Amino acid sequence: MLQSYREELTQLEEKSNLRTLPEIVHRGRDVIRQGRQMLNLSSNDYLGLASELALRKAFLERLTPECFLPSSSSSRLLTGNFTANGELEELLCRLYKAESSLVFNSGYHMNTGILPAVSNSKTLILADKLVHASLIDGIRLSPAKFLRYRHNDCEHLESLLCRNHADYERMIVVTESIFSMDGDEADLRRLVMLKKSYPNVMLYVDEAHAVGVRGEKGLGCAGEQGCIDGIDFLTGTFGKALASVGGYILCRRVIRDCLINKMRTLIFTTALPPVNLMWTRFVLERLEGFNDRRDYLKKISLYLKGQLAAKGYECPSTSHIIPVMTGDSRKAISKAEDMQRKGFYLLPVRPPTVLEGTSRIRISLTASVRTDEVERLISLL
Ligand SMILES: *Cc1c(COP(=O)(O)O)cnc(C)c1O
Repeated sequence: MLQSYREELTQLEEKSNLRTLPEIVHRGRDVIRQGRQMLNLSSNDYLGLASELALRKAFLERLTPECFLPSSSSSRLLTGNFTANGELEELLCRLYKAESSLVFNSGYHMNTGILPAVSNSKTLILADKLVHASLIDGIRLSPAKFLRYRHNDCEHLESLLCRNHADYERMIVVTESIFSMDGDEADLRRLVMLKKSYPNVMLYVDEAHAVGVRGEKGLGCAGEQGCIDGIDFLTGTFGKALASVGGYILCRRVIRDCLINKMRTLIFTTALPPVNLMWTRFVLERLEGFNDRRDYLKKISLYLKGQLAAKGYECPSTSHIIPVMTGDSRKAISKAEDMQRKGFYLLPVRPPTVLEGTSRIRISLTASVRTDEVERLISLL
């Protein structure tokens, strides 16, 4: 019985695509693996908030054993809906000036749950070719028909909308704002305009890598591009720059009510622990104040990309996520190992996370990386 599993793993290993869980110890900005201490350039802690002791200390000062609740003990539809949920959702609405919001256990729950709940067999989902696996899974679980448009290609999307709009009750365009593996970004304003040229098109944007990092108030690319209003499903995660856990949506009230009634990944799971929700709110309340970090991250990202370009690396990134392409998986592995020996914890990204033949190492800059470290990284690459 187990032989076929072994064969499958052997095949992955032969293609250099076998994965294992890294055994690492965290020490602030660094990780220690096999006795080697390295600067962590693979984390999504983009503002450096998760590794910052002072923030946690300030939060802990407010906690008492009475309010420190490590479990909600039930689904939000039963007894798991603590006041911390409402308070966080209220804050989200206030920050985004949105009609309503809803918090989920993770970005993965969010993306696998929303699309099945808001589509039916008369829905067509049009998704960017490079959207995250969680969105693909959501599409697969939904009764909608679906098509992919070429990555960030609005003309292709437009032609698909034009060709199909009369045949469906509703069409939902699905994209990320900053893409997780290429670090490039969607033109949200253009997507909003495109959407508005049809009465039956809705727009779903996942800001997982942009929230906290972009915009004057850290509200993401939609805030930066001034088009929060034009997005029907504005979503993101607390697990990256916001140093917490959970997913969220900003939407119209009727959508929220619909999700509460139909979204299986909200209904059939134990709600986030109140202490997590409180921590998320604590970070969100301070989000506006992190402009220095956002500006600094932008500055070092531009610098690194400029230097990589000068060395002849082609790089699609317009953000702090900076892939260094190797094409081949083996090359990605050896390059990552080489950089690790030199003190930078970089990891190879291989299929199926990215398309076959586009393996890479992925540099994830954070606001806690110093300029001398960026210099050293450049000299070693
Ligand atoms: C990380 C990520 C998610 C998943 O969010 P989690 O909160 O980690 O489950 C969803 N979408 C995108 C684009 C992501 O990069």
